[in-house]
Amino acid sequence: MTPLQALQKYFGYSNFRHQQEAIIQHVLNKQDVMALMPTGGGKSLCYQLPAILLHGLTIVISPLIALMKDQVDSLNVSGIPAAFLNSAQTPEEQRQLVERLRNNQIKLLYLAPERLFGQENKLVPFLKTLNVVQIAIDEAHCISQWGHDFRPEYLMLAQLKNEFPNVPVIALTATADKLTQKDILEKLNLHQPAVFVSSFNRANITYRVTPKKSWFKQLITFLKERPDESGIIYCLSRKSTEDLAADLKDEGFAAEAYHAGLNNEVKAKNQEAFLRDDVKIIVATIAFGMGINKSNVRYVVHVDLPKNIEGYYQETGRAGRDGLASEALLLYSPGDAGKLQHFARIEGNEEQSRIMLNKLNDMVKYCQLQTCRRQYLMNYFDEAFPPNCGSCDVCLTEFKRFDGTLIAQKALSAVSRLNERFGVNYVIDFLRGSKNEKIREEHKQ
Ligand code: ADP
Ligand code: ZN
Repeated sequence: MTPLQALQKYFGYSNFRHQQEAIIQHVLNKQDVMALMPTGGGKSLCYQLPAILLHGLTIVISPLIALMKDQVDSLNVSGIPAAFLNSAQTPEEQRQLVERLRNNQIKLLYLAPERLFGQENKLVPFLKTLNVVQIAIDEAHCISQWGHDFRPEYLMLAQLKNEFPNVPVIALTATADKLTQKDILEKLNLHQPAVFVSSFNRANITYRVTPKKSWFKQLITFLKERPDESGIIYCLSRKSTEDLAADLKDEGFAAEAYHAGLNNEVKAKNQEAFLRDDVKIIVATIAFGMGINKSNVRYVVHVDLPKNIEGYYQETGRAGRDGLASEALLLYSPGDAGKLQHFARIEGNEEQSRIMLNKLNDMVKYCQLQTCRRQYLMNYFDEAFPPNCGSCDVCLTEFKRFDGTLIAQKALSAVSRLNERFGVNYVIDFLRGSKNEKIREEHKQ
């Protein structure tokens, strides 16, 4: 069977997307690969298809149990024998699984990294007795401290190449900044890897940034214009997700909160309800989203400033996986940037603090752009893009230009005459000749 035939037979798709075919060919040729594709690009297929075609076992390393379960279920539905190993399984279930693995009855085995190399139950010696033909590392950016989702247990994967020197490794991620890429390759110790970078442009998403003033009202207006659509609202803190979800419910919206601090039952319930469209709006921290394959998310709103472009792009990327028009809206206030700057500093780690601050700075620049936002995003991921995308707020707005020299001079002169000792609101009142009580008598003159 050729890869294309397998694609049609097992997945029902007629063509490969992006560079899927080349990636698959490399794996089949036993070469190491790193594949960078946007969220929704079709990364899973890049290792699932070789797993079908190769005679032996594919190990898939994945960070989240929920994600594994979904994938395994859908593979089994397509007639591809797959399983996952987790700590919730009974000894009997585990014994049966081992049995099936020994009898070559499983094509894909999903695992969390700590299962492979953790303290107890080291799996590696057992897996080495099997015919392992491919190792896939999903969400490979989790290995990088420079990434936005570092998971220390991923560092253990550095041993993989020593343990399985002849098995091709395919690392997959939707995070594409150069630093993280380099880090992934180094840490995983890949052997002459072929690197595939797909275009990260998500043409069906419109990007907008608006100033965050009386933002709750703004948000309500936005949501009321889209009453029947599903969306994700990202907040910075756990508490604010709960508060906002409650406020939205008071306004009559079907909204629920989601963050890592909720107990598993509530998390699972809220996620299910969202997937089934019973809940239209999920108000979440960044803990929500990885591995959530809901195709009809129509909008993603950030009510707080994200910490970096990588995270922002991945979160907005959860909109419009079905290819239909979708929106990304960010409410920006310079105050949020100041707050995050404070968090970005990591005590005793100058280098990392500097990197985090730079990334935050790039995020702030994005918010303050007067040029195409999509072009900025693409350039950020080292992709060339023309200066007018036609579907971001900057490209969609007609700007009136005027010479602001005189106004700027007045403003600066006022700041100077106030001896640089007053805040912006005071300076404005002063310039306008306000009779406000707060304005000192000498300044009223
Ligand atoms: P990612 O992991 O890159 O975010 P997925 O692997 O979950 O993306 O794929 C996203 C969606 O695209 C899935 O529904 C998948 O079945 C579908 N898909 C993948 N490859 C193709 C293809 N060649 N043609 C059509 N749909 C595809
Ligand atoms: Zn644009």
